[in-house]
Amino acid sequence: MQQKIVLRLLPSEATDNQTIREKIADTCSKKIADISGYHILKKSIDARGKNVFLNLTVNAFVNEPFAERSLQQFLFKDCNNASRKVIIIGAGPAGLFAALKFLEAGIQPIILERGKDVKSRRRDLALLNREGIVNPESNYCFGEGGAGTYSDGKLYTRSNKRGDINRILNLFVRFGAPDNILFDAHPHIGTNKLPSIITAMRQLITDHGGKVFFEKKVVDIIAEGAAIVAVKTADADSFTADAYILATGHSARDIFELLHKKNILIEAKPFALGVRIEHPQSFIDTVQYHTANRNELLPPASYSLVEQVNGRGVFSFCMCPGGIIAPASTAPGEIVVNGWSPSKRNNPFANSGMVVTINPKDALAATTQPGIKATDPLLFMHFQKMIEQKAFDAGGGNQTAPAQRMIDFSEGNVSTSLPANSYLPGLKAADLKEVLPSFVYQLLAKGFKAFGKKMKGFYTNDANVVATESRTSSPVRIPRDATTLAHSQYNNLYPCGEGAGYAGGIVSAAMDGENVAEKIILKLLHLKSNN
Ligand SMILES: Cc1cc2nc3c(=O)[nH]c(=O)nc-3n(C[C@H](O)[C@H](O)[C@H](O)COP(=O)(O)OP(=O)(O)OC[C@H]3O[C@@H](n4cnc5c(N)ncnc54)[C@H](O)[C@@H]3O)c2cc1C
Repeated sequence: MQQKIVLRLLPSEATDNQTIREKIADTCSKKIADISGYHILKKSIDARGKNVFLNLTVNAFVNEPFAERSLQQFLFKDCNNASRKVIIIGAGPAGLFAALKFLEAGIQPIILERGKDVKSRRRDLALLNREGIVNPESNYCFGEGGAGTYSDGKLYTRSNKRGDINRILNLFVRFGAPDNILFDAHPHIGTNKLPSIITAMRQLITDHGGKVFFEKKVVDIIAEGAAIVAVKTADADSFTADAYILATGHSARDIFELLHKKNILIEAKPFALGVRIEHPQSFIDTVQYHTANRNELLPPASYSLVEQVNGRGVFSFCMCPGGIIAPASTAPGEIVVNGWSPSKRNNPFANSGMVVTINPKDALAATTQPGIKATDPLLFMHFQKMIEQKAFDAGGGNQTAPAQRMIDFSEGNVSTSLPANSYLPGLKAADLKEVLPSFVYQLLAKGFKAFGKKMKGFYTNDANVVATESRTSSPVRIPRDATTLAHSQYNNLYPCGEGAGYAGGIVSAAMDGENVAEKIILKLLHLKSNN
């Protein structure tokens, strides 16, 4: 018999196989010998009380032989001689997971990626971190695997209605991710493990006849009537296929500009703007686990905060326990920060975005670029760019980011020194009032104080406030038909993923890639939808 059981265990118990079996036996009123094994179905931390517990939901094998966890299986077809081809612009999670879906259907995916392969990309990231040199084609956002490769690899998403999360997680495991992502309440892979997973995906795609081109930046989209007939790349190459997926991410400003110039419909999309804050990890552990000495069996603690200030939400975003603040700019002359952490999350700092949603009125009021109107679809993009350039000026050059201590920020004082931090290009004490629109600054200042009341020790001058967290989502939406998912003007152009405004994060981008691929498969193979 197999039985689903929920156990509430101390950290030391939750990592000990024998203890878990004992607890299962107790719960089912059986002998230990009757329990042949178990699978963990769900694991979460409960740190609300004085003692921290782990809640484990297990599938126990009682008086029946134990069977290993069976992973989802995938059948990829050889597409070398496929009669149908789809061009995928962008090798981020949306593009890659779309490509995998096409292989299952026997359609050849052709991926055009402006950046470099994972390995070559690493050298550009080293230059960016060490010398502050931004390669506009190869950085934390552009290159094989997209913004997902050197990301934190947190796979938690609330978008559970948008697709099959379990399938995405199983695919990650198929390509080398640890199988605990299948049951952890907040699954995380880590920056050190993602590159080999992405490489394995590409290997499978090319082994099955798919094509992956690096340093192939799409610079033009050629339409005839209601269809796209080709895309052109910066090196004067031209590619043709049955359908075209545009999965270029939230930072491909040249693509947004191209679409706008060619009268391919795009819409302005609000995004959230703010800063990244960084505390010593021990502070967060102390607040969350109620002790300065975290039990080493517990992961570094995280938080998720939200506060209404003056009727507007201030909230934390993409928290990275044991992480690093990364320079995520995609062009010289701008500062954008983001965060990542290795699989062990063993850096001494905890960082998180702290942001406020920007509405069109805010963006219009703050944008200094002449000629921008409320109806301009690039309104939020221009606004975003302007803030990032101000941060660059305040940082004083290269990728040095402007920063303030947290209490100094809230009190309006420029810090005379800054605490130790993880940001490799370096921080410079600056007045962030010169960078952020005043209402964003004020909301964050009040928000930090309010968070300090919720989490004792959070509001501290030992935390850095670093500008800017500005690539939280796309500043543009590319409209598409709700049923076919094709662009509202072109029947074989498929806006996809985060850049098109249909995803926010790795898993939701991957699911959107799959959803779009499914629609294309139905159309090209003349199949009927089950939906
Ligand atoms: C440092 C960092 C940490 C992050 N941490 C997390 C996290 O922990 N969890 C999470 O869920 N999300 C995280 N994210 C966000 C996540 O990476 C993105 O949401 C996700 O990658 C979006 O997927 P996408 O495929 O839609 O676009 P992207 O991943 O942005 O991929 C778009 C691709 O298109 C390519 N491209 C752009 N223009 C062109 C062109 N003209 N021609 C050809 N190719 C082009 C780009 O080079 C890029 O490779 C993080 C992002 C960063 C930068």
